[in-house]
Amino acid sequence: MEKVIVLVYFGMLDALLASEELPEEYRDRCQDILCNDCDKKGTSRFHWLYHKCGFCGSYNTRVIKVESNSNCSTSS
Ligand SMILES: [Zn+2]
Repeated sequence: MEKVIVLVYFGMLDALLASEELPEEYRDRCQDILCNDCDKKGTSRFHWLYHKCGFCGSYNTRVIKVESNSNCSTSS
């Protein structure tokens, strides 16, 4: 995909996730993710489908581990 299209797509996901209410039992959950774009490991707020890289903002990530009760360090 072209970079511009990717950025528009990520922006749409940002808006989607911001408008979405997670069930209470999932709200405090975090997931360890590995970014395919910048190759960094980080954490993301729990979501079934989308996980945003805290370093480069990409959604091109994969989940390594699901944390059941740790605080999410990413602000968004
Ligand atoms: Zn990244």
